[in-house]
Amino acid sequence: MNLLRTLAAALALTTTTLASAQGHPVSGAKVMDLTKQYLAAAPHRAIGTPGHEAAEKFIRDHFATEASKGNLVVDKFTAHTPVGMQPMTNYIAKFPGKKDGVIVLASHYETNYPLQSIGFVGANDGACTTALLIALGDYYRTHPPQGYSVWLVFDDGEEAVGKEGMVPSDSLYGVRHLAAKWSGDGTIGKIKAFVVADMLGWKSMNIDREGNSTPWLLDLLAKAAKTTGHSSSVFANEMTIEDDHIPFKQRGVPVLDVICYEYGPYEQNRGDYAFHHTAKDTIDKLSVASLQTSADLFVELVKLIDQH
Ligand SMILES: [Zn+2]
Repeated sequence: MNLLRTLAAALALTTTTLASAQGHPVSGAKVMDLTKQYLAAAPHRAIGTPGHEAAEKFIRDHFATEASKGNLVVDKFTAHTPVGMQPMTNYIAKFPGKKDGVIVLASHYETNYPLQSIGFVGANDGACTTALLIALGDYYRTHPPQGYSVWLVFDDGEEAVGKEGMVPSDSLYGVRHLAAKWSGDGTIGKIKAFVVADMLGWKSMNIDREGNSTPWLLDLLAKAAKTTGHSSSVFANEMTIEDDHIPFKQRGVPVLDVICYEYGPYEQNRGDYAFHHTAKDTIDKLSVASLQTSADLFVELVKLIDQH
């Protein structure tokens, strides 16, 4: 038993050493751990609920350093929704770089409103990408961007509030608000790329070649995958998705949706994948390996966008 434990400890050490030697700036195990913490703190995150407030607190607590420097923007607004006027909040954590321009990395952090009825937790859909952005924040805090500034956007109200599913008037509330606000104050002209992280933790993840994304950013994603040894985890499927990048695409910003929409076996009767927007979107569907792939791709993408 003792020997086994010692061996296990030695193996764990070797694994950790190898991971850093192989150059993973952000650890997939850490992203998994943060996902679990987030789900424990705020399992149900529908707008207007105490769980949503707990999610906001979780994000604020992780960016206390940025808040103390004036680099955490709390962007509160009110949206017309099918269930009336609802308060919503985007959080923007800013990591200043050395050259003029901004790379935005965004994830929605809330959960679908109608799916409250089934106790939906969104481990893959919202939670793991919120965790990914928090882990990226930890990295950029200790390794400040040497090129463009990096802004992490935790956006609210990505999901539909009504029961009809995602329609343009009932979805993407946070990013629609942000795109309009940043158009008004001139910020939008500084954005070199708006990159969305969505559904990036599934064990069998393969990131889609997403049809609304800007071609040169898709090329950089392929290049990032090659450089980090993850080419087999991207572009097996093509898919065009109405996601958080749309309001920025409509305003001429280069956009990229990093997403694996496929999630579990396809169900003909629902016309959707088995784990998407069902009670089956739980932590056991995710893997450290997929989260590692996602983390590696995001760090590499930022470097490549800097050089573009
Ligand atoms: Zn969703």
